Amino acid sequence: MTTQSSSTATEYQAERCANCDEQTPHDVSIELEATHNDRVRDENEKFARTPCRVTTCRRCGEQSFERQT
Ligand SMILES: [Zn+2]
Repeated sequence: MTTQSSSTATEYQAERCANCDEQTPHDVSIELEATHNDRVRDENEKFARTPCRVTTCRRCGEQSFERQT
């Protein structure tokens, strides 16, 4: 399994952190989440690599993942 950390720019962004319960600076990165669904490969081919938005709170380190569909 290869983790592609391409030239996706990491940026700080103010996001609401559920843990801090307020807006905090976050690390934001987009990762491609590879899924392996043999059963529904054809049907889900377009979802084979789902861009996943990962935000990490700079204050508490809480990570949240958000599928980009
Ligand atoms: Zn936080």
